[in-house]
Amino acid sequence: MPIRPIVKYGDPVLHAPAAPVERIDDDIRALFDDMVATMYAAPGIGLAAPQVGVALRVIVIDLSVGEDPAQVIKLVNPEFLEREGEQKHEEGCLSIPGYGGSPVRPSRVAVRGLDPEGRERVYTGTELLARAFCHEIDHIDGLLFVDRLSPLKRDLVKRKLRKKAREGWEE
Ligand SMILES: [Zn+2]
Repeated sequence: MPIRPIVKYGDPVLHAPAAPVERIDDDIRALFDDMVATMYAAPGIGLAAPQVGVALRVIVIDLSVGEDPAQVIKLVNPEFLEREGEQKHEEGCLSIPGYGGSPVRPSRVAVRGLDPEGRERVYTGTELLARAFCHEIDHIDGLLFVDRLSPLKRDLVKRKLRKKAREGWEE
């Protein structure tokens, strides 16, 4: 389960919608394994395939960051069935290290997708899990949390991020 490099803000793969997965095969299952390993190593609670440079609609989430195997969520082609309410909390992103922001998110979501064996799965989430689903599904739609900040904050942060992207993210 190799850890893959996480691409950073400014890489085109993060800013364009990803393609649906047409067939769940061993390559997709290997991608899941690598994404989970990469998420744990970061560490983070979610990762989307574009963040490892793969433009496919694949996401992983684990609020326990590997502590509880029952909490790992692996979904192909996830889509919202329901979104309701509102919440606003600080988010960060492994592709935008060092930056945070508080986009408005639904307080409760229901999400449907396929698991690595191709079985349909439906998850409902509130609070942090709802935010994680929204954050990761945004990634496969080519959106980052900074795209959802208020216009004033968005412009301010994006100006800094564009500079970072030009100069390189290497710390
Ligand atoms: Zn992210």
